Amino acid sequence: MSRSVTGMSVCSGVAVGPALVYLQQLPKQTLGSLASRAHIPQQQQRFLDAIAHLIAIYEKRLSQLPLDSVKLQTQAQLLEATLLWLDDEDMQQCVLDTIEQYQLTAVAAIDHVYSTHAAEIAAIADPYLASRSHDIRALGQRLCLYLSGQTTDITDIESPVILCCQDLSPGDFMLLDLTNIMGLVLRQCGLTSHTVILARSAGIPCLINCDFIAEGLSSGQNIMIDSQHQQLIIEPEDWRQQDNIAWRAAQLANQARYEHERLIPCQTLDGHAIKLRANVGNQQDIDNSRELQSEGIGLLRTELMFINALSLTDETVQFDAYYQAVMSLQGAMLTIRTLDVGADKPLKAISLGHEDNPALGMRGIRYTLRHQEVLMPQLRALLRAAHFGPISVMFPMLSQFEELDDLLDCLELAKAQLTALKHPFGELRLGLVIETPAAAMMLPALLPKLAFISIGTNDLNQYLHGADRGHPQLSAQFPILNPALLALMNTILQQAQHAGVDCGICGELASAPQATALLMGMGFSEFSVSLDCFGAIKSNILSLRLEDCRDLASSALSLPSLNALTACLNNFNHQAGLSNLSQ
Ligand code: PEP
Ligand code: MG
Repeated sequence: MSRSVTGMSVCSGVAVGPALVYLQQLPKQTLGSLASRAHIPQQQQRFLDAIAHLIAIYEKRLSQLPLDSVKLQTQAQLLEATLLWLDDEDMQQCVLDTIEQYQLTAVAAIDHVYSTHAAEIAAIADPYLASRSHDIRALGQRLCLYLSGQTTDITDIESPVILCCQDLSPGDFMLLDLTNIMGLVLRQCGLTSHTVILARSAGIPCLINCDFIAEGLSSGQNIMIDSQHQQLIIEPEDWRQQDNIAWRAAQLANQARYEHERLIPCQTLDGHAIKLRANVGNQQDIDNSRELQSEGIGLLRTELMFINALSLTDETVQFDAYYQAVMSLQGAMLTIRTLDVGADKPLKAISLGHEDNPALGMRGIRYTLRHQEVLMPQLRALLRAAHFGPISVMFPMLSQFEELDDLLDCLELAKAQLTALKHPFGELRLGLVIETPAAAMMLPALLPKLAFISIGTNDLNQYLHGADRGHPQLSAQFPILNPALLALMNTILQQAQHAGVDCGICGELASAPQATALLMGMGFSEFSVSLDCFGAIKSNILSLRLEDCRDLASSALSLPSLNALTACLNNFNHQAGLSNLSQ
């Protein structure tokens, strides 16, 4: 009989296939010492076998990579660097000696040697070298997992599976061969975490906060992600699969409708034009957005483009990426956000050290303004790419007036440097992501210096409520569609309109189909949405009358209660025949 585990669906769809349970935690018993010295040679051999196994995997993966995009070149560099560490004879000798000297299991010795080495590297003053410590720790963990029976490495998934993990960092997500990932189940993850954003962009059915471990799921069992009922079904019976066929048929009908609506100009039933753009993290997403007839890109998260890059100081690598993006858009607007490193997006190339509260620490421009060796090449690359087509630049995590002046100074300096080098460049349309309450409060002073703002509802909601956006137990209590956030967004929009500055939304709220009518009714006419929701949002826009949306907004904005707001929206959306998917 089947068993089901409840989760939260963040990217809709059905997936049925074998589970691959990838647990990043080591069983305790593998970390002990050996009962007798007689076992030492066998443990040393196990270690050498594990090294040989991982080298073979990484070499194979490297030989299979077509090097035709920045993402793949970055992956190749990463794999090459990992191979160097694996091949390092001093490290190998150190593990062999530790097994011998302390009479430890291979796993315990690897754990000790790689963690110690990682800690030593983390303490090096050079930030580039220090940032390698994370890789060394991760490599030690991979060796240990292999020796503890976790024989599949996530970079080496060779047949289609539904991947089930405790959590997955955005960097590890980028290493997956997505052609073999039918679905993703995460035990712990927040609704607007960046791994979720990536899964949605790739259109992979995804369940989060789903405790498959408590249900004893193991690799190879047949499972089904049923996003309609927000459940993971272990060993699903045939009837469940049949039941989902009907749902899948409805989904296909929706897809056919979106396909038909793709070429229709994006405007409401009563003729009000709405700008609908896409949120992207790499060139593949940009190409997909072209297929969907997006009016350009409303948010390119550059930290996702370079999340696994080993260095961020190379202007040419960045210029190449932006040049390719701007050329492929053929004159449509490309909105690029400068590097938003930090919080749940650690980058391979940057070592931030330990922070007690990373979401409140060194994030976005707080980091880049202190690290001109990272900011300046990015600004120069953006200016140079703007010579070939329209680019808007926006800065993340601003919370102080002075920060904007500092950024503008950097931009002027970048122009002067390019002029001195006789590099042609174009002007950038200047904007900010409004994602801290402080930035929202200072808008009257900030707006005169800007051409546009874009509301980052994911972080704005997090900082407004003081509730971690990645916290699995808080997702339901502080959804992005809530009275306080709407009230603040209303004020932001009114101030921008008063100052004649464009104001859009790029956070996940713009991608929530149940919010489209309300947001349009409030007066928003620029949305940047995730690719998997693009069709649904456009369909909603085409079927609504702005006048009805305004009536909805004036009632909804007067409701201080989350429940009352949800009921009001559900009622309106139901009557309008729109999607009522929960967030
Ligand atoms: C946001 O905070 O809403 C946003 C768009 O940025 P990110 O999700 O990348 O932090
Ligand atoms: Mg943000």
